[in-house]
Amino acid sequence: MSTEAETAPASAGNEHAFQAEISRLLELLSHSLYQNREIAVRELVSNASDALDKLRVARLSGGAPADGPELEIRLVPDDDAKTLEIRDTGVGMTREELVANLGTIAHSGSLDFLSKLSDEQKNDASIIGQFGVGFYSAFMLADRVEVVTRSAGGDETLCWASTGSGTYTIDVADEVLPRGTVIRLHLRENCGEFADETRVKYILKKYSTFVPHPIYVGDEHVNDQPPIWAEPKNSVTDEQYAKFYQYLSHHNGEDPLWTLHLAADSPIQFQTILYGPPSNAEKLGFGKAEHGLHLCAKRILVQNDCRELLPEYLRFIYGLVDSADLPLNVSRESLQDDSVFRKIKKVLTKRVLDHLGKLAKDDAATYATFVTEFGPVLREGISVDYENREKVAGLLRFKSTGDTDEALTGLDGYLDRAKDDQEQIYFLGGPSLAAIESSPHLEAFEARGLEVLLLDDPVDEFVLANLATYKEKKLVSADSADVAIPESATVEDKEEDAEPPQVDDAGMQKVFDLLKDALGDDVSEVRTSDVLAGSPARLVHPQGAMSAQMEKVLEMSSGGEGFSRSKKILELNPKHPLVARMSVLAGNEQNAGFIQDLGRQLHSNALLLTGTALDPRAIVERTEAFMKELAEKRSNIVF
Ligand code: ADP
Ligand code: MG
Repeated sequence: MSTEAETAPASAGNEHAFQAEISRLLELLSHSLYQNREIAVRELVSNASDALDKLRVARLSGGAPADGPELEIRLVPDDDAKTLEIRDTGVGMTREELVANLGTIAHSGSLDFLSKLSDEQKNDASIIGQFGVGFYSAFMLADRVEVVTRSAGGDETLCWASTGSGTYTIDVADEVLPRGTVIRLHLRENCGEFADETRVKYILKKYSTFVPHPIYVGDEHVNDQPPIWAEPKNSVTDEQYAKFYQYLSHHNGEDPLWTLHLAADSPIQFQTILYGPPSNAEKLGFGKAEHGLHLCAKRILVQNDCRELLPEYLRFIYGLVDSADLPLNVSRESLQDDSVFRKIKKVLTKRVLDHLGKLAKDDAATYATFVTEFGPVLREGISVDYENREKVAGLLRFKSTGDTDEALTGLDGYLDRAKDDQEQIYFLGGPSLAAIESSPHLEAFEARGLEVLLLDDPVDEFVLANLATYKEKKLVSADSADVAIPESATVEDKEEDAEPPQVDDAGMQKVFDLLKDALGDDVSEVRTSDVLAGSPARLVHPQGAMSAQMEKVLEMSSGGEGFSRSKKILELNPKHPLVARMSVLAGNEQNAGFIQDLGRQLHSNALLLTGTALDPRAIVERTEAFMKELAEKRSNIVF
């Protein structure tokens, strides 16, 4: 009781206060939100249809008596009284349900999200139904709303009423319903058109064609459409597909990005229409998509948000699946271990992935939109769907150094361009594209004409590391000791490095020892490498270890606690004049300290280029010492 007192301070007798959020929502609705008032009718009819579905499910489990009025929806416009009634013979509501369902917002966060929308988005009424607040759109049309309702099996008919200004009342109704709900809208002065029968029929045909229960206005059955998913593909028009998409998604006036209509016969018989939306609401910050597919058994809706029919990483898809092989009286629990169900899921998943692959080939522009919007959701499949992971991987797109027509490339495109003897797919992660592009690791690959995928989204790097191989080619981070350079990839000699200094082999060994000594535990090994092209040095992570970027991300997410970076290998480029010179200088004991300082600085530079935060003091002191020495040398030359 105490919580109710908090949320409803004005409760007195049969008068209740709305949860604070609802008052704010109603304010939003009456001011800027939802200029398109027709949407209110759609939302109320959608609720009526849900109530009929719930009744059918309750009957199957014995939770509601089997007798009583036919399952139907009836709209009654009254031009004289300026009212519109939406009547259904569904489950109805008890007193407690009226308070819980029409006095509070079930999905916390919905309101926050709605109030953050831009004005343009607010005027696009299409979204209201997605946020579990559809009922309140009634106040866009009415200055007084009555909900007369009788719960299935209940013995009293109740009347909920409100003017939408902070409170509502619940009383025993004057009329007696056999079962179900009447939503009675006392229309606002400027909404008189909603009491006009022709107008109401028009709106129902526009938005509610696919409601799976009969809707009547007067004697007319307004939604006597055949179910389009059961029709042959070539008899369904684009407009019908778009309308069905809008019905399923509540995305008013929006066309789907792609449509997949198919019928399967074996191992399970089913018909389905699936849609890809044109944009991803998750990107706007509204949590994970929670809708599912509509599931029908022999045309009758069994569940309207069935999330178990597709894997989570395809949760953005809207659609309907109708199977004659499913029993009508299925519960959510029994569905999950039902083998029919699992088979449908398997086929659907495969067909969707194949369809996306085909879309990528046939319609690059549409696919680019798709992958920009949903790539981040799709890639989740790599770590959860082992059976299809290679298919999913082939659908992902990345930035790349390759010479491509599209802004992004897929792994297949990469392999097409790869050298014949190339056994690995190279990628490099970094905090930004600019940081990756200035990496000494990248330079080594570019100098040899080897393509590298540029991963400026850290998740992509984890995804590819997790994938490990694609079409038998190993996926390798460019800063890894695992890198194998194909023999055919040679560095073209540059004219300007005309006379590279001779490397002193014994001196080079001495350089390794000096540097290992100077860097101590900071590196596991110092060695030369023929991977490098123009840079003097690079840090590579040992075979099998995480890349520098992955370590950084993990370190940040663990808050640095209990995390230790793996020791890196410092690789020197013997073709670089500085390194060659070091090997010569090492011959003289007196240069030992200087060579060690050079080594420390090369190490710091390599770290700096990966964007690792370092203690600047040591670096500054060391470079100042170098500068001082150089300046002194110059004074000797001049004087
Ligand atoms: P949503 O439909 O997304 O749950 P709404 O704001 O449209 O959100 O409706 C809120 C709730 O009110 C519904 O979930 C349902 O429990 C109840 N409700 C609304 N209309 C009816 C109706 N005609 N019959 C029974 N319950 C209803
Ligand atoms: Mg609703």
